[in-house]
Amino acid sequence: MNKRILIIGGGYVGLYTALGLRRLVRRGEVDVTIVDPRGYMTYQPFLAEAAGGAIEPRHVVAPLNRLLPGMRVLTGRVTNVDHDARRARFEPVRGPAYELGYDIVVLAAGSITRGMPIAGLAEHAVGFKTIGEAVHLRNHVLGQLAAAASTDDPAIRRRALTFVVVGGGFSGVEALAEMQGLADDALRYHPRIERAELNWTLVEAKGAILPELAPELGVWTIGALRERGVDVRLNALLTSAADGVAALSDGTAVDTGTLVWAAGGRPSPLAADSGLPVDAIGRVKATAYLTVEGIPDAFAAGDGAAVPDLTRPGEFTAPNAQHAVRQAKLLGRNLVAYLKGRSLKEYRHAYLGSVAGLGHHQGVAQVYRIRLTGFLGWLAHRAYHLAWVPTFNHKARVLADWALSGLFRREAVQLGGLEHPESDFQEALREHVKAA
Ligand SMILES: Cc1cc2nc3c(=O)[nH]c(=O)nc-3n(C[C@H](O)[C@H](O)[C@H](O)COP(=O)(O)OP(=O)(O)OC[C@H]3O[C@@H](n4cnc5c(N)ncnc54)[C@H](O)[C@@H]3O)c2cc1C
Repeated sequence: MNKRILIIGGGYVGLYTALGLRRLVRRGEVDVTIVDPRGYMTYQPFLAEAAGGAIEPRHVVAPLNRLLPGMRVLTGRVTNVDHDARRARFEPVRGPAYELGYDIVVLAAGSITRGMPIAGLAEHAVGFKTIGEAVHLRNHVLGQLAAAASTDDPAIRRRALTFVVVGGGFSGVEALAEMQGLADDALRYHPRIERAELNWTLVEAKGAILPELAPELGVWTIGALRERGVDVRLNALLTSAADGVAALSDGTAVDTGTLVWAAGGRPSPLAADSGLPVDAIGRVKATAYLTVEGIPDAFAAGDGAAVPDLTRPGEFTAPNAQHAVRQAKLLGRNLVAYLKGRSLKEYRHAYLGSVAGLGHHQGVAQVYRIRLTGFLGWLAHRAYHLAWVPTFNHKARVLADWALSGLFRREAVQLGGLEHPESDFQEALREHVKAA
């Protein structure tokens, strides 16, 4: 019987592992099942550009069933793994849960947004990790401008034009920068709003931002954001979001209509909940071969795994796309070696550096010793990420989006109604009942 491989998670690690298997094994040699709650891989580094409107949201995601013909793609979530019995409990998007049997499991469920018990956070904040959140933010920012332009009440206006982002890592900084670019562009359609009326605040708990880059680049970015009018608050914590007022540990209180929580992630709880070995912060304990420590027939990589960093003994690889993709490529090869009884290879990759886009044709980049800021940093950011977008089709679409947004003005239509398509119809039905 063919070996059954179950891949849990269809993000970077899941998709690239599956693509590797497609290349390395003949059709029919293994049965691969890949499970993901959304059914598509999200290219997260471009979420900010999707929120800012420079890239069409559909071009930032890659549907698994299209990329993985011949493999079984299940939409839903694995809620528990009983590895001794080689069974996983699967909850499909619709219908009752059932068990999936397997011979080898790949844990690739990544990370989830790190929550905190802060009053008002659940009611007033939005995360920044999914394409849904990016689309929502784009509509929301444009909706806030429209709301401000439609009222003379100064308090309502000020709240609508105040935007707070918590988290000075890549996702928070890029989200704020792209939202600001979108709002600045859209102002030309709102002559009653002055640019100076827009308030932007970035809140970071530590004394620096963009920790994956050299400190000088973080300092440069703070300067660039402040020049654009962003109030960058370092060493400050969000202590409450009750009533939509962002209260900070430095005593500031910001009444805001937009609160974005981008304060980092934590490993998927799946491994810990399934009794698999995890470290103190909940990452699956992986070996340098990307197998799960002390457990046969189990592999793990990416944000949810503690993979030893052989280039920095004693440390673990950082949770980023660069490691996730490279680990997945090796994981695919090691899986095939494992099936064929050959020896596995160790994961060894020295971090190359990173890039961040700041909208307004600005960015920062650090690749080996080369450091770029401003326009060159922005170009490097785009070139780097374009190279890593999966499939030629998606690359071409992203490139076309950039070309169009360079040639024409950014589309500034607010499609918030998409989030509640039923409301117009329900209102029509209510009117019908009234009239009857
Ligand atoms: C906004 C943002 C910007 C980023 N920018 C950069 C950047 O510029 N550079 C960089 O290097 N990195 C960046 N990253 C980090 C990078 O995206 C991650 O490191 C990478 O996605 C990790 O890959 P992964 O496969 O481990 O997890 P993911 O790609 O997150 O994939 C995990 C998958 O598992 C699925 N899943 C979760 N739970 C279950 C379950 N129970 N059952 C089945 N499936 C499940 C999820 O739906 C998801 O599709 C960014 C991240 C974010 C959020």
